[in-house]
Amino acid sequence: MGESVTRDVGVRFEGLEPPSKACDDPECPWHGHLKVRGGLTVGRVIKLRAKKLAIIEKEYLVYVRKYKRYEKRRSRIHARVPPCVSLGLGDNVLIGETRPLAKSVSWVVLGVLKKGGQ
Ligand SMILES: [Zn+2]
Repeated sequence: MGESVTRDVGVRFEGLEPPSKACDDPECPWHGHLKVRGGLTVGRVIKLRAKKLAIIEKEYLVYVRKYKRYEKRRSRIHARVPPCVSLGLGDNVLIGETRPLAKSVSWVVLGVLKKGGQ
């Protein structure tokens, strides 16, 4: 109860560091008991919503055979933001897959890899 030990989330990723702050959110992968399992991905924060929700956008390339070129596609993922992680728009973040937390949320922000502009 009330322990503020930072757990090992079991994720090794270049540039990822455990948050310097602690929090008491049970749905925090570092300080609560939310497990990260499944995918890991990197994206950019494009919207911050309702305190604990961020919209992350990923850009990827898909090869189009007919034109022998790549087309750029985007996808958006809703991710939960634990209180110990502070985010700004444009930040590059690492997110990990977890259990469904809400209808459209089954990812959690693990940390900021690179701060975005402003
Ligand atoms: Zn936390």
